[in-house]
Amino acid sequence: MRILLYDATTYDKDSFDKELKNYPGVEVTYQEIDISLKTVSLAKGYDAICAFVNSDLSAPVIEALHEIGVKLVLLRCAGFNNVDISKANELGVTVLRVPGYSPEAVAEHAMTLALAVNRHVHKSYIKVRENNFSLVGLTGVNFYQKTAGIIGTGKIGAAMCRICHGFGMKVIAYDMYPNKDLEFVEYKSLDEVLRESDLLSLHCPLTEDTYHMINKDTIAMMKDRVVFVNTSRGALVKTEDLIQGIRSKKFFGVGLDVYEEEGANVFENREDELLDSSVTARLLSFPNVIITSHQAFLTMEALAAISQITLQNAIDYENGTIAEVNQVK
Ligand code: NAD
Repeated sequence: MRILLYDATTYDKDSFDKELKNYPGVEVTYQEIDISLKTVSLAKGYDAICAFVNSDLSAPVIEALHEIGVKLVLLRCAGFNNVDISKANELGVTVLRVPGYSPEAVAEHAMTLALAVNRHVHKSYIKVRENNFSLVGLTGVNFYQKTAGIIGTGKIGAAMCRICHGFGMKVIAYDMYPNKDLEFVEYKSLDEVLRESDLLSLHCPLTEDTYHMINKDTIAMMKDRVVFVNTSRGALVKTEDLIQGIRSKKFFGVGLDVYEEEGANVFENREDELLDSSVTARLLSFPNVIITSHQAFLTMEALAAISQITLQNAIDYENGTIAEVNQVK
């Protein structure tokens, strides 16, 4: 099994190389550039390609993969909204993913963003470096005994519920399929969760139903001075409406690991570029907004699990023993 791993970083190489010794029949070639119509031909002669969360796996790219005989796409991530699944199904290209590698890694980052923006850590870090020890502008709120509203209580949302519970928060949630293991969580309608939460965190996938679920109408329902966190997918939030909401002082703080138009930014060093979109710059202009670059997954434990499950997916494909839950259909 020969795999071309696109968009390879040093941490990908480290974690896959460590794991490869346990998979003697598998060979991985690392390619720093990401897959696109221009680079898909590099996969000729490989059995599979390995791609990541923002890789272009649109219909034309899937068609091109099919034409050069690549029948397997190994996603080293959970989300698959970047893949044209109907085209893959039509052409018999199998798409396997890593549905749960370390839900705690993402949930812990969601709480990191919530705490950092609430307690102005991003501001105090810079102030103290400049010998400014004034506390003016740094007042936060206690999360203890406040209400955490979790939207989507799958693997990551459940981990976030447990973290919030540990902070002594009342935890309410919205999901079409309540998680019976979370006996301390009170499930409510989406509107109720939006209205009652002091901390709101998104953990549902991006689908046609959830696209722009946070918009001017749902923002209007939220409590004034809410702390809002999105570590799920950027397009769950209509950014222009979020910016209006921030301007109208709806939010105490906003923490974003994902945001619309992040595609060109994610994992890239663009410090010498003049950016042609103002979304990131406008969001960063607000003192109560923290943005990280889709890094919620990035822990040692998560990387080890991602490489292990991805390589196991490759072996399972060859052996015809694909784990149903790992296949995107
Ligand atoms: P999961 O499939 O275990 O859980 C998703 C939950 O969302 C399910 O319980 C589902 O019923 C629920 N859901 C679906 N539609 C909903 C809706 N309209 N309203 C409310 N709930 C809804 O997924 P997971 O592993 O917990 O991951 C959640 C999301 O986190 C992924 O889809 C991905 O977008 C994101 N993610 C981000 C990172 C990162 O690094 N920032 C890493 C991994 C995953």
